[in-house]
Amino acid sequence: MILEKPDKSGPNLDSVSVLDEHGSRKYVYPADVKGRWSRVKPWVYTVLIAIYAALPFVHIGGHPAVHIDLPNRHFYLFGATYNSQDFYLAFFVVAGIGFSLIVIAALWGRLWCGWACPQTVFLDGVFRRIERWIEGPAAKRRRLADGPLTLEKLWKGTLKHAIYLALSVTIAHVFLAYFTSVETLAAMIEDGPSGHMGTFMWAAIFTAIIYGNFWWFREQLCIVICPYGRLQSVLQDRDTINVQYDHVRGEPRGKVRAKEEDPSVGDCIDCGRCIAVCPTQIDIRSGPQLECIGCAYCIDACDDMMAKVGRPPGLIRYDSLAGVEEGQRRSYKRPRVIAYAVVGIILFTVAGIVMSKNDTFETNMIRVQGAPYQLTETTIENTFRIHVVNKRNGLTTFTVKPSAEFADDIFIPQSEVELKTFEGREIPVVVKLPLDRYKHGMKVHIIVTDTTSGESEDVGVEVLGPRRPVRKHKKPAHDGDEHGGEHERHGEETR
Ligand code: SF4
Ligand code: SF4
Repeated sequence: MILEKPDKSGPNLDSVSVLDEHGSRKYVYPADVKGRWSRVKPWVYTVLIAIYAALPFVHIGGHPAVHIDLPNRHFYLFGATYNSQDFYLAFFVVAGIGFSLIVIAALWGRLWCGWACPQTVFLDGVFRRIERWIEGPAAKRRRLADGPLTLEKLWKGTLKHAIYLALSVTIAHVFLAYFTSVETLAAMIEDGPSGHMGTFMWAAIFTAIIYGNFWWFREQLCIVICPYGRLQSVLQDRDTINVQYDHVRGEPRGKVRAKEEDPSVGDCIDCGRCIAVCPTQIDIRSGPQLECIGCAYCIDACDDMMAKVGRPPGLIRYDSLAGVEEGQRRSYKRPRVIAYAVVGIILFTVAGIVMSKNDTFETNMIRVQGAPYQLTETTIENTFRIHVVNKRNGLTTFTVKPSAEFADDIFIPQSEVELKTFEGREIPVVVKLPLDRYKHGMKVHIIVTDTTSGESEDVGVEVLGPRRPVRKHKKPAHDGDEHGGEHERHGEETR
């Protein structure tokens, strides 16, 4: 069997493994590997890609499962609907997710990075597979890339990049569908780019980013850009379960025969296979490193080598540093894990409570412009508009009625209104109180009811009027005023 050896420069412990001595990028050609974890990964990737792709297509309650309608500030999440007023909820959800990832990092290191991050899922599960399928194993790929331009290099490169581009366009459009909805995006595509230049530009930008990332930038994103990767050293401790090299068992390393001659030699046969398969070209034997994304390919590579030389598997395995060095049992109940988990649970609980109590409609009383009140001989009158917005995922009818106490004092010409999701309507409301019932600072109440759920909201509003008690106006003496002084307009007293 011919082994694919690591890059000749080998592990470089003084610098980033994917940079050469001049600081230039070394393009990585990780070798193929077969084993326990490599067999499971395609299934995990398939499920995750299916979920990413399905979310904008699957409809719950007439809307996509996930639709972030930024221009209208409407958000549809698994049947629930939110608008810009609910944006504060995002803090609890995002912070809760953030703390979940922190708990995962404290318990299992870079499990997310190696198994579920979209960067890994698409790079390892899709783009690198296409590369291998077209250009062959790592050694052949490197030879082809370093060699002169031949017919083989030309057609393989053209085919690979054509597929990369087609995939990038598809992924960019699925990503856009989260923001535009599939139906709107399909209609835009049918119309052509000229009518939707803004969306077309976003599609082009996303395509360029996705293509550039998965063709060229690749592991650099994990090493240079991703903040989660850089935070790992402060989130993990000696009990964190990670991909670990058992240096107690493996060192001092030596060739296969060396152990036969000297039993003190460790199990590592220094074959370099764990480096060859590593997508960031690091040497796991040098200890935990920032560049390790926890992909577990070195476990499979080493197990394969151990099987070949008749030694037990697990020289590289999922274990903690404490487990490797002291043989300690795995400990999950650690102060930092408990602290992170408690904060995460609190945030999710608050998010859950607030989201479950999130109103299915919004109401606002708006005082009409002009004089705040009108005073007649017997009444005081305030005019409003009540703004009702349907936040329910579907059509519903609202009733707008005065509370029982003010049934005779409030006039609402349109007491029923049918609204679609996020549709709003302003309904006139006239409050006409007899003077003897009016008190300065008093409030009247209007009950808005969602007839679908039966939920009601009591909207109170202050009736504006004079501060001092109102004495009934005497009828004016002059005959010319046939309204007897009615509909006097006031306002300065309450401002
Ligand atoms: S060291 Fe192992 S687990 Fe870490 S990135 Fe390399 S192959 Fe993957
Ligand atoms: S694959 Fe295993 S045996 Fe080979 S160099 Fe790596 S740790 Fe040593």
